[in-house]
Amino acid sequence: MLVYHLPGTLETRETDLDLLWEAGATGLEERGGTIRAYFDARVTLPGEVSDGEWREEADQDWQAEFKRTLRPVRAGRVTIVPPWLREEVEPGQLPLVIEPGMAFGTGHHETTRLAVEALSGLNLAELGPNGTGARVLDVGTGSGVLAIAAVMLGARTALGLDIDPITIPIARENAEINGVQDRTMFVEGALGETEIYFNERGLVGYDVIVANLYAELHDLLVAEYAAHVVRGKPVILTGILTAKLPLVRAALEREGFTDVQETLEGEWALVTARA
Ligand code: SAM
Repeated sequence: MLVYHLPGTLETRETDLDLLWEAGATGLEERGGTIRAYFDARVTLPGEVSDGEWREEADQDWQAEFKRTLRPVRAGRVTIVPPWLREEVEPGQLPLVIEPGMAFGTGHHETTRLAVEALSGLNLAELGPNGTGARVLDVGTGSGVLAIAAVMLGARTALGLDIDPITIPIARENAEINGVQDRTMFVEGALGETEIYFNERGLVGYDVIVANLYAELHDLLVAEYAAHVVRGKPVILTGILTAKLPLVRAALEREGFTDVQETLEGEWALVTARA
């Protein structure tokens, strides 16, 4: 990568910037009192901007740099890893492979980790009808991480919903990478808009609802959670800033949820309750 270093800032050398563009610069930026002008090849520059210096610099592959910084994330019995770190999962931990990409949910956010930990603390293999595997609803599925984790932890099935259409194929691909595609389903939509979908399949309720959204949305959706979860079964809500906890507590109380418990991590909270 060929960079011409010119002393000054974009402001102090404003009148010289056009000369650099005209000379063939492909990009300009300012770092620490120096203007960096990117060129494909050395050129002869006009006198006004000849007080700089040409430097050949190593190309920076930002994607590779980002990938290098990713570490496995341990959450309860699950360790979330990108595909190239699969071998680093400790024995006894369940490896949940997520390809980092456009959808939220690589496990690096506190709220994802808190939610996987909460799922890990439930006996999902026996929380369904007559002690069978739980049917889990994941509202705001993103990468599908929570639905996939639920099935890996013993749930019979998990349905992931998301209003963002780009997440659906990503979540399906992640489910396939983890070999749980037959027990997960991902559908575009919001909870209140998918009644037809639920009714067509004769679904009357879920044994667990997990939702990593935000406090104001939980407040709006709590009645839907109550309508979709089997009486006595848990909801796991996160994406809640600790300052907004009173809003979620009040909403759960309003809909008759009991056994409300909170887990805090930094500025983030996770709330569990029973319908
Ligand atoms: N479940 C993943 C996790 O825990 O890492 C992703 C959570 S991400 C914070 C929230 C997701 O909820 C986003 O993918 C967003 O598109 C989706 N979302 C936002 N509002 C929604 C709604 N009303 N219904 C369903 N999904 C929604």
